[in-house]
Amino acid sequence: MNLHEYQAKNLYRKYDIPTTKGKLLTHPSQLDDILRSVGKNKWVIKAQVHAGGRGKAGGVVLVNSKKEANEEVRRLLGSNLVTHQTNAQGQAVNSIYIEEPCEIKDEIYLAFIVDRTSQRIMIITSSEGGMDIEEVAERFPEKILRNPINPIVGIMPAQCRQICEDLGFDKDLSVQMIDLMKNIYKMFVQKDLSLVEINPLVVTKDNKLICLDGKVVVDNSALYRQPKMNEIRDDSQEDERELKAEKLDLNYVSLDGNIACMVNGAGLAMATMDLIKTHGGEPANFLDVGGSVNEKRVIEAFEIILSDTKVNGILVNIFGGIVRCDIIAAGIIGAAEKMNINIPIVVRLEGTNAKEGLELIKNSNVTVYEEADLDKAALKIIELSNKGAK
Ligand code: ADP
Ligand code: MG
Repeated sequence: MNLHEYQAKNLYRKYDIPTTKGKLLTHPSQLDDILRSVGKNKWVIKAQVHAGGRGKAGGVVLVNSKKEANEEVRRLLGSNLVTHQTNAQGQAVNSIYIEEPCEIKDEIYLAFIVDRTSQRIMIITSSEGGMDIEEVAERFPEKILRNPINPIVGIMPAQCRQICEDLGFDKDLSVQMIDLMKNIYKMFVQKDLSLVEINPLVVTKDNKLICLDGKVVVDNSALYRQPKMNEIRDDSQEDERELKAEKLDLNYVSLDGNIACMVNGAGLAMATMDLIKTHGGEPANFLDVGGSVNEKRVIEAFEIILSDTKVNGILVNIFGGIVRCDIIAAGIIGAAEKMNINIPIVVRLEGTNAKEGLELIKNSNVTVYEEADLDKAALKIIELSNKGAK
């Protein structure tokens, strides 16, 4: 689950992590009050969306008068912001954070992530922070430094000193940075985060460290013990199909391709997607219907798959263990009848009651291509979806 920048900054304040003073606007009528309480005659207007790259896309603007502030707020509020991190539609701007401008001397990159390779929380830093960090990472990877935290001893003084030295910080900045990193680590662990990215962390003209941006991701698997985080979740920023699938307890991730996959088991789902790619196709989604699937869930899964207009072919790949293939077959038939599906479906049923399942499909009125061999099934759905066959 992603937090908005303003939510991240509210969290920073609770952990004594220095950030800017600002207020959230959700309606233009609040503007005058906010401008009065936040700054004097200059403000930074920041669109709140779950995506970075706002600066380059016109979503972060410095304004020098109330009139300008008013114009920018009206331009942004209710619009969709397209950045290099969003899709072509962009993300809806439903709120705007208005904060005081900061006199920047230097922009640093600082992130804490859960690193799967080392199985540790990793501190990532770069002296070249700011809006071009992706380019720095690509062209000068040696400028991105990584420091894993040992989970038993936690963040160590020697490690902190090394990071400060690498960033070229003087003593005064180092003292601030060490406190900052300790506080972020504490917040990271207590709030079950999987990412904190501060880009930029700025050094101000009077040598103070301030977190100017905030990207915070909470580990979804820990939301059950972070009820406060759950309460501030902003569904308007999330993929509609993924949200719906989550409510139905289906494991679904939207992708860019055209071939929908319906599979049981995450491993098999990954293998199915790989196979589609290997044969030159593009999967439209990852979908693991899970082990306790029944006819109703298969129909719901089809509904989600078919609400994606890019989809022009469906590959169903079920390995029946606990799941019975005849139940899946009944679901496919039910979905086809209910939804009048007019795109090709290739089905591969293997394992428990596969024979009965295939029998059910053969005896029904639905047109489904059956293929026992997974390689052939993948090739078939690619061929059919390319043709636009029914
Ligand atoms: P994004 O990463 O989505 O582009 P940021 O919050 O990082 O958004 O803002 C982009 C850039 O705008 C920053 O790198 C910084 O240079 C500038 N900026 C952002 N907030 C402020 C502020 N309060 N004062 C001065 N400059 C700012
Ligand atoms: Mg940023």
